[in-house]
Amino acid sequence: MSKETILIVEDEPAIADTLQYALESDGFRTLSLDGGTEVEATLEREEVSLIVLDIGLPDINGMELCKRLRQSHAVPIIFLTARDGEIDRVVGLEVGADDYVTKPFSPRELSARVKAVLRRTQGEVVQGGPSALEGPFQVDENRCQIRFCNTLLDLPRYEYLLLKTLIARPGQVFSRDQLMTMVWDSPESSMDRTVDAHIKNLRAKLREVNEELDPIVTHRGLGYSLRELE
Ligand code: CA
Repeated sequence: MSKETILIVEDEPAIADTLQYALESDGFRTLSLDGGTEVEATLEREEVSLIVLDIGLPDINGMELCKRLRQSHAVPIIFLTARDGEIDRVVGLEVGADDYVTKPFSPRELSARVKAVLRRTQGEVVQGGPSALEGPFQVDENRCQIRFCNTLLDLPRYEYLLLKTLIARPGQVFSRDQLMTMVWDSPESSMDRTVDAHIKNLRAKLREVNEELDPIVTHRGLGYSLRELE
């Protein structure tokens, strides 16, 4: 099994080195960048499992970068922030980060967070290449991608996680609350991120690929399920 790659984006060499050492001691492969401009190119080139992202970068604000990455990448992100407090936490999670660590932090703590986020976002996934072929769907957990009728879907993070959840158990009806809890990191702060809106987006994207299948079923007053296709 190949090592999982963690991308460290941090401009302070001492912190970057500490992180690198801690993560590599724990069996990860690391890549390091001292600014944000190369992050997207690196994600295209490398199979990155998680990004540790400093908010205070010299060339781009870490939160802006995170928002931008979220348009096209589902890779988990842990923020490093020098400022403590609830605002950073909310803001961090609002822009789509999976967790945050406040400086100064212990390398051991950071490494533990990395493992926890990977466990949470990957579930009980078998590593290595495209996984389950579920009817017309093909889920590639490593790349956080889903294909529908052999067409790659362009899914932002929550749509990806939502669809992945439905695909994992065809026929099972999930209530909105269940989906919210299973998919969203902090459901209580997600007033505007309704399950319904994301389901609507997903349906539109699936219809673009195949007009007939319509695999997501609405159960009025109950929730949603994935149709059990022959
Ligand atoms: Ca910094």
